[in-house]
Amino acid sequence: MKILVPVKRVIDFNVKVRVKADNSGIDLQNVKMSMNPFDEIAVEEAIRIKEKGAADEIIIVSIGPGPAQETIRTALAMGGDRGILVKTEVEIEPLAAAKILKIIIDEESPDLVIMGKQAIDDDCNQTGQMLAEFLGWPQGTFASEITLEDASITVTREVDGGLETIRLKRPCVLTTDLRLNEPRYASLPNIMKAKQKEIVERAVEDFDVDVTPRLKTLRVEEPPKREAGIKVDSVAELISKLKEEGVI
Ligand code: AMP
Repeated sequence: MKILVPVKRVIDFNVKVRVKADNSGIDLQNVKMSMNPFDEIAVEEAIRIKEKGAADEIIIVSIGPGPAQETIRTALAMGGDRGILVKTEVEIEPLAAAKILKIIIDEESPDLVIMGKQAIDDDCNQTGQMLAEFLGWPQGTFASEITLEDASITVTREVDGGLETIRLKRPCVLTTDLRLNEPRYASLPNIMKAKQKEIVERAVEDFDVDVTPRLKTLRVEEPPKREAGIKVDSVAELISKLKEEGVI
C-alpha cells in the first residue's frame, strides 16, 4: 500500500506573529517556519501504518516556495520515503492545493491520503474535503483513531457531539485531529539518512491549474490587548460588578 501525505510549510506555532505596519498582512521576515502541526500528525500516522507492515511507501508532497523543501526533508527524516515539491511563490489557497494534489494523486495512485484537518496559517479546513470530492473518494475528517482492515478503514471522528465511528472503503482521504497520535522527533541518524532521499521538484506552471488567489486580504489587525483584571473582596461585590458591566 502507498500512502500520500501533503504537508504545508507554515509559521511555527510557537511564534508570536507580528502584523505589518501597513496592516496589509503578517510580517514573514526572519520568522521561523515549520511543518503544519496537523501534517506532522499525518506523517506520524502514515509511518505507524508502515511500521505495522501495512504500507510500503510514504510519499510526501508540498506546494509552496523553495524552502518548503526543508519541510519535506523533515517529513522524510521522520520516516517518509520520497518527496515531491510543487514550487510556487504564489500563496496557494485550498481550492488550488486540492486541484494540484488531485493531479499528483492521479499520477501516483496511492491507496490512502492522510493530511491535516487544517493549516494553522489560514485555518481553512477545506483542502481535504475538496480533494476527496475531486477524486470521488470517501473522506474521514477529524480522525482521532484509525484502524485498517483488508479493503476498508475504520475512522473515529471528533465531532461536536462526541465521537463518531465510520467505515470507509479505500482509497480514501483522511484528515487528522490533534488526538490521533503524538508525532516523533526525527533522530540525528534519520536526519542524515533523509539527506539522501529523493525530492522531485516541479513547477506549478506544469499543472494546468489556475492558482491565482480568489480572496483579497483587505486588512489584518492584532486582537485588542487584554485589559488588566480587578480583584473583588466578596461574592456580593462580584455580583454588583457583573451587574455594572451588564454581564448579568
Ligand atoms: P487547509 O484547508 O488550508 O486548512 O489545509 C488542510 C490541509 O491541506 C493541510 O493540513 C495540509 O495537509 C494540506 N495542504 C494545504 N495546503 C497545502 C500546501 N500548500 N501544500 C501541501 N499540503 C497542503
